Amino acid sequence: KQAGGHQFGYVTPGLQQAAQARQSIADDLRAAIALRQFEIVYQPIVSLQSGQVHKAEALLRWRHPTRGLLGPAEFIPFAESNGLIVEIGDWVFREVAQQVQQWQRSIDPAFQISVNKSPVQFRRDADLYLNWLDYLNELGLPAHSIVIEITEGVLFEGAAQVIERLRQFRAMGLQVALDDFGTGYSSLSHLKRFDIDYVKIDQSFVATLENDVGDMALCEAIIVMAHKLGLKVVAEGVETKVQRALLVDAGCDYAQGYVFARPMPAQAFEAMASAGVPRLPH
Ligand code: C2E
Ligand code: MG
Ligand code: MG
Ligand code: MG
Repeated sequence: KQAGGHQFGYVTPGLQQAAQARQSIADDLRAAIALRQFEIVYQPIVSLQSGQVHKAEALLRWRHPTRGLLGPAEFIPFAESNGLIVEIGDWVFREVAQQVQQWQRSIDPAFQISVNKSPVQFRRDADLYLNWLDYLNELGLPAHSIVIEITEGVLFEGAAQVIERLRQFRAMGLQVALDDFGTGYSSLSHLKRFDIDYVKIDQSFVATLENDVGDMALCEAIIVMAHKLGLKVVAEGVETKVQRALLVDAGCDYAQGYVFARPMPAQAFEAMASAGVPRLPH
């Protein structure tokens, strides 16, 4: 209203506040890397055969000075629209590279960490992989220590270009996971067409496994198909023992979810691994 009468006449105070909040988050985001406000939490990825943890997924958090700890859904969209996602994603990659190297020394020489890459990010940071290659060489870290998680949204951004990028990643030695499989435009043909190592079954399917025979059949089909194509399968969002048992029966390779462990700071992860490779009961 201070800004002059009818201009904002149609905006309710609530909407205006929400718009201001969004603007201030977008502004704060610019300073967040320099101020070291980003943190990465790690969720164990458990082998369903052995119960052992040789892998983790890196999930980004923003410790905002006044709003508290924010999850990716609350700020990644802003970072994508103002382009900061490239800088943030670069920071995440380097942090994860250092972390996985440390855990290969202290937990398991074959330890792997996956990092998420949104479709917008995939499109915008086209040349970063060359810097990453240098960085991995500098560390002396084998590229297969890192798994890049992409969603199927990426596959619709322009197939030829995407196939080429995935080929470059794989040529570097990075591994690739198809995240949130089963949502959106999911297609079994993507498993064959794109150069990937892992398929992650979306948590929405896992959530209804117990009650929905159709979802169980779908999971089984994804797993059989993936295995025939030489891919490993990870189930996301496993919250109950029954879900876990059904996934074991279906031949699923790995799982992550609250029934095993929530995402945790690196220190907590290390504490869990202090007696060697963690084995997570449920
Ligand atoms: P995602 O990659 O599919 O990650 C799985 C999400 O499920 C995470 O949410 C995780 O905390 C949550 N989760 C894990 N186990 C369970 C469970 O048993 N039950 C339920 N209900 N949820 C579970 P989070 O950390 O909020 O991340 C949300 C999304 O944000 C991620 O989905 C990913 O797409 C994106 N994201 C996270 N970190 C990054 C990042 O560094 N860069 C980019 N571009 N995106 C990121
Ligand atoms: Mg993911
Ligand atoms: Mg997912
Ligand atoms: Mg998701």
